[in-house]
Amino acid sequence: MLLAIVIASQGELTGQQNSTYIKAGFLYDSKDNKLLKDKLIQIQGTKIVSIGEFESLPENNQAIDLTEYTVLPGLIDAHTHVLFAQDANEDFAEHSIQSLTMEPDALRVLRGFKRAKSYLSEGITSIKDLGNSGRYLDVALRDAINEGTVEGPRIFASGPILAANGGQIYGVLPEHQDIIDLEYRIIKSPEDAKNAVREHVNQNVDLIKICADNIPNKTYLTIEEMKSIVQTAHTYNLTVTAHCVTNQSAWNAIEAGVDGVEHGFNLADTTLIKMAEKQVFLVPTENSRAYMKTYTRLAGYKESEVGWIDNYLNKLEDRLSRAIEKGVVIVAGSDNYTDIKVSRGQSSKDMFRYYFEAGMEPLGILQSSTYISAVQLKKENKIGHISPQAYADIIAVKGDIINDFVSTIENVVFVMKAGEVYMNEVD
Ligand SMILES: [Zn+2]
Repeated sequence: MLLAIVIASQGELTGQQNSTYIKAGFLYDSKDNKLLKDKLIQIQGTKIVSIGEFESLPENNQAIDLTEYTVLPGLIDAHTHVLFAQDANEDFAEHSIQSLTMEPDALRVLRGFKRAKSYLSEGITSIKDLGNSGRYLDVALRDAINEGTVEGPRIFASGPILAANGGQIYGVLPEHQDIIDLEYRIIKSPEDAKNAVREHVNQNVDLIKICADNIPNKTYLTIEEMKSIVQTAHTYNLTVTAHCVTNQSAWNAIEAGVDGVEHGFNLADTTLIKMAEKQVFLVPTENSRAYMKTYTRLAGYKESEVGWIDNYLNKLEDRLSRAIEKGVVIVAGSDNYTDIKVSRGQSSKDMFRYYFEAGMEPLGILQSSTYISAVQLKKENKIGHISPQAYADIIAVKGDIINDFVSTIENVVFVMKAGEVYMNEVD
């Protein structure tokens, strides 16, 4: 009798919502890192309900036909700055000061919204936004998207970057340091560091971003300050990721217990080994040769002045290969905030081209921009994997993802976020 009631009520519950079905020719299983063939995805409301065979499609139900395509979880860009943009020929510090003193917050958020939205049509349904976003404008934009006021990707927002005196905005006179406070949370001591994290907690950030070094400013956070940040953040279940240009600052940040290293342009083998041991992830944020060509042209370099690009990229590719070889967890992130005359979402997808040029395997790149990225956000049951109970963030690409990776990942034909179709160009 009891059982009958339970079954009946379950039937009623599931009967209330109509299912949407997707037939996937290939389905990328991001957890096991392999392609499955001919799978049926069942969706109810915002969530995925089941993955099955084509035959399990109930009679009289139509499925979205993606049999000619490869279906992937919505992609994740783990390093963005949607509230910030600069032209290629602009100086970062000068542009930051101009933005902070002449760009009203309302205008900045609206511009940020447009940039964020452009990710969706590229198949990037989640982004990790890491500061340079004023006083919690990233959090505001995230909330506006989550409540449905505006359309955009899921945002995981860090709030202002925690940094040592001066932040990354170089050359500002002592009497104008209050401008820096509009963009960074300047840490004065290990004790102050705890409070900075608490302030962020109360503003509902999703994670903490720090600048282990402030290059080209000479200041950097001490190991004690970073330890204090990490310990406090972890008690609130927030992860900490560290911007590190120098090898020394990365070493210090890892010593202090951070969860991730951003950029890590100059990581030595010993640092990479330590990262692998401690499972500290790395977000390499370089660009492809094609992007560098566009960027340097827009920045005003002459053809004869760009000989350094190859050496520069070779060095960074070597660093990425060494990191992979030593077992460092790689998370995909673009850090593309320069206006290269395409949408921000389009610009960000250059990371796929770069990782491929640098020698990563297509499926490895996909996993770094889906499941592995979600694990680092502690959201692997919600995003980055097409599995029951996860959000129905599902995209499809046209082409051969294994043998023609770059053009295929750029050829997004279908985008669904939380069960809602944002783009459908299936022919
Ligand atoms: Zn960045």
